[in-house]
Amino acid sequence: MDAKDILRLKVRLLTEGATLPESEYSGRKGGAGPVGGRYFVLPNGRHCGIPIRRGEIAKRFGSALLEPTEDPAKWIYDGGIEIKAVARPKFLNGMTADGIPYQQIALLHCHSTLATTAYQACKYWECGTQCKFCTVPTSHLRGDTVLDKSPDQMAEVVQAAEKDGIITDILLTTGTPDTPDMGGERLVAIIKEIREVSDLPIGVQIEPPMNREIIRELSRAGANAIGMHIESADGAIRKEMCPGKYEYGSLDLYRKSWLYALDYFDRGNVSTFILHGLGEKVRKTISLAQELAEAGVVPIVAPFRPAPGSQLSDFTPTYVGKLEESLKLYQEVGNALHKWNINPSETLAGCHRCGGCSPIQEAYDWTASRA
Ligand code: SF4
Repeated sequence: MDAKDILRLKVRLLTEGATLPESEYSGRKGGAGPVGGRYFVLPNGRHCGIPIRRGEIAKRFGSALLEPTEDPAKWIYDGGIEIKAVARPKFLNGMTADGIPYQQIALLHCHSTLATTAYQACKYWECGTQCKFCTVPTSHLRGDTVLDKSPDQMAEVVQAAEKDGIITDILLTTGTPDTPDMGGERLVAIIKEIREVSDLPIGVQIEPPMNREIIRELSRAGANAIGMHIESADGAIRKEMCPGKYEYGSLDLYRKSWLYALDYFDRGNVSTFILHGLGEKVRKTISLAQELAEAGVVPIVAPFRPAPGSQLSDFTPTYVGKLEESLKLYQEVGNALHKWNINPSETLAGCHRCGGCSPIQEAYDWTASRA
């Protein structure tokens, strides 16, 4: 497969998803980031967190069949494309010294990113202004995870995963507590503890704190990459879909925070998610992606994935049935990244290091193949 075919495959998988035989596991049902998916390795060796859809929903999204074979690693997508399943790592069977299963503290994203949501709640849920796509508290409420991960617990899981040779980087995200640091101080404490046992790159994700010095503190504690997520480039969509975040932080606040972060983190190690498929004006997404790439900030444009337990669980994303339009969007993003020399694979840690939820690496590769 050439770069064009791989980009098409990844955009198809991330927007249409895939349907599995009934007996197969569909992936986790709550928590941060895209849920309801499983990780596979594509023919280019990169990873994809494929949304698993069934029944009427699969029909609505046009999801093709993904079938297991006699070899547990080998799967066949849409009758002919061979992809490989990522196996569940053994270290997740362990338990912390205080008796908490490792898998309630952190999970593996793709094959090598250890990720946790340090604080599994958010102030916006408490006043009903949460992001409409969010499921951050649901995994804790179901008993699948711990509300507040301690620095000790996280350092212990990192050590176990590193000892098994599984992980290459660490991602710490957080729901937003009702404190001015937006959760940054909790992340600083966790990073310091991890740095006692590991030198692996660490990526963090927070809302822009009013006191920007928290960003500097995260860097000084040992974080290597930071994401502050605007979620949509279209102000009207941000207002509708993320009412709490919208009221708190203007695009101007995000711009200032990204630029401030570039004083402490290298180009390509400051990022923001920009969701695709919420009804936004696509030209606004492209325009912001171009502005960010020029500045050295990675625009992680990614298809929005409706999650059970969120307010948008039954929402049909605007990309459904529009594969060619989606491809054009990602090609524009790839052009912007390539023009400003932002190669997502060169980031040290975080979501675009993993790359399972976004086709921007494949878009960058597509542009590079034509240069
Ligand atoms: S800021 Fe939005 S996406 Fe993040 S945890 Fe809060 S409600 Fe969820």
